[in-house]
Amino acid sequence: MTASEIARETIKQMAVRRVEPTPDNYAQIYLEISGKPAKEDAASALRKALKQLPHDSMEQTNWVNRWEKVLKQDNWQGLADLLKEAMLQQLSHSTKWPKAIRTLMQGWDDKRTGMDLGKKREMLERVLINFGNDDTLSEKLLGMANNWLPADARVEGVTAAPESKDNTAVIAAPAAIEPLTKEELPGEVQQFHSAYTILQTLLKQTLHLGLIPRLEGYPDLQSEAVALQESTERAKKVKEWEALAKSLKALLLRVEVIGAKEDDVRGDIIDLLHLLLSNIGELVADDSWLSGQVYAVQSIIGGPLDRAKLKLAEKSLKEVIYKQGLLKHSLIEARNSFKTLISSFIDKLKYMGDASELYGGKIESYAQQLSQTDDLIKINELVNLLMRDTSVMQTDIMRSRDDLLNQQRVASDTQQRILKLQDELTQLSEVVRIDQLTGVLNRRGMDEAFSTEIARYRRNGEPLSVALLDIDNFKFLNDQHGHAAGDTALKHLASVVKRTVRPTDIVTRMGGEEFVVILPNTNLEEAVTTMSRLQRALTKEYFLGNNQKLLITFSAGVALFQEEDDVASILLRADQAMYLAKKSGKNRVMTDIDLRQNQA
Ligand code: GH3
Ligand code: MG
Ligand code: MG
Repeated sequence: MTASEIARETIKQMAVRRVEPTPDNYAQIYLEISGKPAKEDAASALRKALKQLPHDSMEQTNWVNRWEKVLKQDNWQGLADLLKEAMLQQLSHSTKWPKAIRTLMQGWDDKRTGMDLGKKREMLERVLINFGNDDTLSEKLLGMANNWLPADARVEGVTAAPESKDNTAVIAAPAAIEPLTKEELPGEVQQFHSAYTILQTLLKQTLHLGLIPRLEGYPDLQSEAVALQESTERAKKVKEWEALAKSLKALLLRVEVIGAKEDDVRGDIIDLLHLLLSNIGELVADDSWLSGQVYAVQSIIGGPLDRAKLKLAEKSLKEVIYKQGLLKHSLIEARNSFKTLISSFIDKLKYMGDASELYGGKIESYAQQLSQTDDLIKINELVNLLMRDTSVMQTDIMRSRDDLLNQQRVASDTQQRILKLQDELTQLSEVVRIDQLTGVLNRRGMDEAFSTEIARYRRNGEPLSVALLDIDNFKFLNDQHGHAAGDTALKHLASVVKRTVRPTDIVTRMGGEEFVVILPNTNLEEAVTTMSRLQRALTKEYFLGNNQKLLITFSAGVALFQEEDDVASILLRADQAMYLAKKSGKNRVMTDIDLRQNQA
């Protein structure tokens, strides 16, 4: 077709199709007839192009939606505004980082606002944590650093960053950039958007405030948690969230293991405290009459721990320390008054000795020796020497002798007092009732506990049960894994027993690998149940001996205290029942009733 033929046909078609005779319609039909592709209008071309842009994130979707909105409204001014905004953004992009860094450095060094570096560092960390992967990071940094400067030195045109609740500098978005308001998003998207934002913030805060501080001391895990927190901010796609969930789960597993380890450490610290307490007697031999209080503290920390109990233990310990101070004070006082007496005694002698050069010299030497010693025996010796020497002195000296004897009596009274005090202390230092290896009561402690419990039984008649435990094949364990492993086994058993029985039950080591548990207010059946629970606990908790995981079992005999019983008879029955358990194949519990049936 020639151009004029096409033009003629175009006019004809416009008439046939009854379209308005506008230049646009003419052009369209002309192109159609000539077989050339119809020219698209700019708006639909733009619409098509917008559809092809990435919609991966909320921001991207928002941005495209705003363009689509102005296009739909044929709002050419709006379109121009958007273009301007994009251009400005592009421009500001190239200058905002140098500006932010310069202000940050100025603010960091500027001391005029009085804010210290620690606080600045904390704010910086928070901004980095919250906006590290955000386009707005440079603005947030600028706003924050601007606040570190005095008002007259601030960069102009920067929105002052108000402190949000968590101390994070919050910066208003520049006025030109207004994302779609939430209301402009479709309904489900709005809901999803809200829930998503809340959950994301919650997870971020849980990591930041809950987990990360708790991992102080575990730098590996802590930096993993920090990395996870950062991914929380970045994650947009389902795949990224899935990966994040997987890493979080793995991390939490490891944190759980640490928790278990920390429990062990706490147990070890308590053991150490027990050991320390049981050794206070030896460490301060002089003052060990205080072992009563020490014992009280030991029994307080013996059971399951809570804060009230710890407070009680602290109070008792303070009492111990206070009494120790008092005692030391009175000892020193007594010794000093004794020394004062003796030196006044010597002064008198000196005065008398002036009569004779011979005694003068001797007395001088006694005085010197006295000043150099605190030893009571030595002081006593010096006094005796003085007395012997004075007995041969002149008659006029004899007159003072009564006086001197009097003073010596006072001195020796004081000395007696000191010796008595020391004697008391020594006696009490023998009262060590704790087994050094396992931290439970030893044989002596057990005897004392028995007399208290038997007296209580006779007073109120509540049932009293006694269990005797003997580790199975302990000799084999010693031979196979070494004596140290054997010792660890004993400590392990003691600790599991203590944790398993009631706080009122009394755990003691009778000797070797035999333990006795005294169970007040417990009948035979309940005592057997307790022992079975203990057996179950032991099958679950291994211990490390010789670098291997080891398990132990025990055989136990349980006996119920009868009216006519005493310590020896109840222990004998429990021992016989234990022996029966050994004979019947070990790792079991037998009672004195089983014993009777077996004998019958
Ligand atoms: P059974 O199952 O019949 O009770 O056999 P057993 O091997 O446990 O009993 P046996 O009485 O034959 O051996 C007890 C062993 O306990 C012998 C001794 O060397 C060991 N032993 C006793 N006191 C201690 C201790 O304080 N530490 C260690 N490591 N071993 C101890
Ligand atoms: Mg034995
Ligand atoms: Mg044994």
